[in-house]
Amino acid sequence: MEIKQSKRLFSLAKDLMPGGVNSPVRAFQSVGGTPRFIHHAKAQYLYDEDGNSYIDYIGSWGPMILGHNPDFVLDAVRDQLQYGLSYGAATALEVDMAKLISEMVPCVEMIRMVNSGTEAVMSAVRAARGFTSRDKIVKFEGCYHGHADAMLVKAGSGVMTAGIPDSSGVPQGCTADTLSAVYNDLDSVQRLFEEYPQDIACVIVEPVAANMGVVLPKEGFLQGLRQICDKYGALLIFDEVITGFRLQSDGAIGYFGIKPDLVTYGKIIGGGMPVGAYGGRGDIMRMVAPLGSVYQAGTLSGNPVAMRAGITQLRYLKEHPEVYTQVELLSDRLRDGLKEIVHKYNAPCTVNGIGSLSCLYFTSEPVTDYTSAKTSDVERFSSYFHYMLDNGNYFGPSQFEAVFVSNAHTLKDIDKTLSDAGDYFALTFGQNKANVI
Ligand SMILES: *Cc1c(COP(=O)(O)O)cnc(C)c1O
Repeated sequence: MEIKQSKRLFSLAKDLMPGGVNSPVRAFQSVGGTPRFIHHAKAQYLYDEDGNSYIDYIGSWGPMILGHNPDFVLDAVRDQLQYGLSYGAATALEVDMAKLISEMVPCVEMIRMVNSGTEAVMSAVRAARGFTSRDKIVKFEGCYHGHADAMLVKAGSGVMTAGIPDSSGVPQGCTADTLSAVYNDLDSVQRLFEEYPQDIACVIVEPVAANMGVVLPKEGFLQGLRQICDKYGALLIFDEVITGFRLQSDGAIGYFGIKPDLVTYGKIIGGGMPVGAYGGRGDIMRMVAPLGSVYQAGTLSGNPVAMRAGITQLRYLKEHPEVYTQVELLSDRLRDGLKEIVHKYNAPCTVNGIGSLSCLYFTSEPVTDYTSAKTSDVERFSSYFHYMLDNGNYFGPSQFEAVFVSNAHTLKDIDKTLSDAGDYFALTFGQNKANVI
């Protein structure tokens, strides 16, 4: 595969931007090699500057559940452009967006739009602290909640593969009130509450952890968090930046039937534009300025073009539940196919997944938390990643990223990917095959 242009651009970019990128994982640091510079995307495909095409299993890290640039979303955005890019004033679109989200997810009684998932989490945590008049928060090892200071503790994917468990530049004071618990381990949460019964404002969790690969909540885990929070008067925050409007139209809240007090959104709700949101119980959201004492603002928040893109995609999802059946069917095919290959070659691998989210871990251990995820052979992943990339399959460049399947993918795409994966396993684990009984 010719990647002359990507190489040229990467070398220019490295002199101009840290690592040549605007978000670390894009730099391919954990897998090595040259990141592909993308020229355009359509449906399930990405096209790089050298004209190579790839089946895209990232989908802009989540937003593109319908594939890239569905015509009806582009048409809506084009229509919106004629009215201007930003006013810094209230619009009907923001009312439409809030109404749509509260219809799709009824426990979101009030919502505030922001510009990224990071902002959504930072603001939701502030609201929880303001509402409870408590300072401490509980998060889980391996869950990523954006790059706000207080959240950069054992924070999953980008941080995990870069080998920096924390970040420099974050004063100790900023994380002093951030307690970490073990995903899927209610006892670890209970112990923190026993130590600080009156001090914990909230527990924040990815209801499906999708930043240490894909780790499913064990039966009763989310329910247990709900009970512990209720017992101690703490709030439960679901970070649904990935799972929201992805697991199903009402996200993890509907899928697992557990109501958090607050929820954070990002990725899908912007349809590819930079959007985030936090919302939930009305009594908590009424704490937010200008009604209450929790200050939070944003010059470009609720941007009309971003709202139009987001509303258009969300409304489609609301009206087309078959999208969820389809992405699950495709992902089941992918997961089943990978499991077959792993079994055939007796390879030390584990396949996790739910709905449109999947992960092939290069470890034979079941992956249920951060510690087990980290037993993965990341060098083996890198070699798999590059083999797949060179054959036109674009996965997240890290063992700890989810594989995202969109509604635009076809069974043919999945089968091509499986065939390439089969070839990789034959090359790499071929000698194991004889050992399978
Ligand atoms: C991506 C992500 C964030 C951060 O969102 P940004 O838009 O990148 O700031 C927060 N939480 C979760 C679960 C995420 O996956």
